[in-house]
Amino acid sequence: MLQGLRHDAWYVGHLAGVPLYVHWSVLLLVLLVMSGGGGAERIILILLALVIGIVLHELGHALMARWCGASGITITLWAFGGLCESRRDVERIGRELAIVAAGPAVSLALWLGCSALLAWLQAHHPHLVSDGYRLSLLAHALAVGAAVNMSLFIFNMLPIFPMDGGQLVYYGAIGVTGNRSLARQISLFLAVIGACAFFGWRTDLWAMLAAGESWTAWAAQLSWSDAFLALLLLWILRSAFAYLS
Ligand SMILES: [Zn+2]
Repeated sequence: MLQGLRHDAWYVGHLAGVPLYVHWSVLLLVLLVMSGGGGAERIILILLALVIGIVLHELGHALMARWCGASGITITLWAFGGLCESRRDVERIGRELAIVAAGPAVSLALWLGCSALLAWLQAHHPHLVSDGYRLSLLAHALAVGAAVNMSLFIFNMLPIFPMDGGQLVYYGAIGVTGNRSLARQISLFLAVIGACAFFGWRTDLWAMLAAGESWTAWAAQLSWSDAFLALLLLWILRSAFAYLS
């Protein structure tokens, strides 16, 4: 699906025995976060949380793949997040479901872990959370970590193939119906509907149309991050059609 991406990427080292690569396009992600503004501390914390959150999410896929007997496992960071590749027998539906689910499970654990730690500090050591006027660096980092991993979890669980949610639908449908062609049709249908619905929701299209506003008013308020999201969703749909149709 993304052959060639890793060959244009820098090798940065091994993590838990898995080679980690960084593709130059990850700079687009950095620019996108910087364009969101909010001060240096916030931007640095978001970038750190994104890199750590994405690497650990992919490591979840990678370690489960290794446990399931896959070989040639690599992780690559690029513009649209992370990518875990491996060589394995994709005919074994139960294993595929476990490998796909392991990534979102890590994001969910990080989201809940950061939220729980922040709440515990607030209850038992409030002086570590705030000086009465502003959040401490620790509390800010935990809040950003919770928000970033919540976004990673929700976004990856959208039923848009080949994102994790879409793959869970695809392999789940094969498991339930035993019919690969029907599973492909269900997954493609959900990917297209899901991508349109998510983009419309994220850019306020549905709310503006419901309020009687025009398409041009909607288009006029679109931002650079909306354009980035549109590109991301188009690339995802292209992959879905390449793989499923
Ligand atoms: Zn994933």
